Amino acid sequence: MEQEIRAEHDSTPKKKLVNEMQIVFEAKSENEGFARTAVAAFVAPLNPALDELADIKTAVSEAVTNCVIHGYELGPGKIFLDAAIWERTLVVAVTDEGRGIADIKKAMEPMFTTRPELERSGMGFSFMEAFMDVVEMESAPGRGTRVVMQKEIR
Ligand code: ATP
Ligand code: MG
Repeated sequence: MEQEIRAEHDSTPKKKLVNEMQIVFEAKSENEGFARTAVAAFVAPLNPALDELADIKTAVSEAVTNCVIHGYELGPGKIFLDAAIWERTLVVAVTDEGRGIADIKKAMEPMFTTRPELERSGMGFSFMEAFMDVVEMESAPGRGTRVVMQKEIR
């Protein structure tokens, strides 16, 4: 997925941009902790409550894990983490250039997984939707997948 598509998204709130960042890292499970800690540090100036921070970290972890396991099927590849703060709203985009998803609607259903043999429960998207205010997905089979999530810090 191209850089310019990542940077601007339909879900971008019509608010004043306070801060933004981009990180590119290798699709390895040990980078899940790095990604969620990076986003937690990025949002820290908004003084999120502990439960808000926990929600954001879990949602970022789930999105990154999906890139590692499903997007790149545990093989090599880059994960693109983009985050922005619009007034008090955090927007986080997690993008891979892996295999993509044929049926997004089905993929987002609770308990749907294509990898039951890896003991996945199919709840990743459900957690993202429960913990964030808005979750949007785009994917192109063979090209990649992007999840864009928003959460207002109250
Ligand atoms: P869990 O997250 O509970 O361990 P899971 O990863 O299978 O299980 P979800 O995170 O809800 O469940 O994802 C549902 C399905 O969507 C996956 O099984 C996979 O088929 C597809 N999917 C999710 N993210 C990606 C991605 N980045 N690239 C390709 N397919 C994906
Ligand atoms: Mg998952």
